[in-house]
Amino acid sequence: MKREIRLNAVLRDALRSLFRRPATERYPFEKNPAPEALRGKLVWDPEKCTGCQLCIKDCPSNAIELITIDKANKRFVMRYHADRCTFCAQCVQNCRFACIDMSDEQWELASTGKQPFTVTYGRDSDLESLLAKSTEKHPEPAAET
Ligand code: SF4
Ligand code: SF4
Repeated sequence: MKREIRLNAVLRDALRSLFRRPATERYPFEKNPAPEALRGKLVWDPEKCTGCQLCIKDCPSNAIELITIDKANKRFVMRYHADRCTFCAQCVQNCRFACIDMSDEQWELASTGKQPFTVTYGRDSDLESLLAKSTEKHPEPAAET
């Protein structure tokens, strides 16, 4: 008898919920703007960077690397490992030149592969120069004929 009463209550609730607005958000079909203070993916401005390396020394997770392209002209490339980052924002607070920020727009970081978790930032010409150096060091194997 008790079981019958419970079943009725469950059915009643199920029927009612069919006509109610969902209590949850319809993510990913509808997205609300993230709070401004959200710590999403790290973003970096190469124009302001002096290469002081303070951000790297202060990062507890070894999540950032600064690659020197031309020290005299302050040309660097930053490699960010989002999969190591703890989003502590220590690098943001300690950069005296305000080069680093944590995006409140780029926060959907889930991926089934590893590749999107490593991001390389820099001026286009510096990225090209880095790519050229890496191809020199590790040339593509010749195609078999
Ligand atoms: S702390 Fe700022 S200026 Fe120094 S290397 Fe890092 S990003 Fe560049
Ligand atoms: S937010 Fe923290 S863990 Fe992530 S790169 Fe900056 S210092 Fe490192």
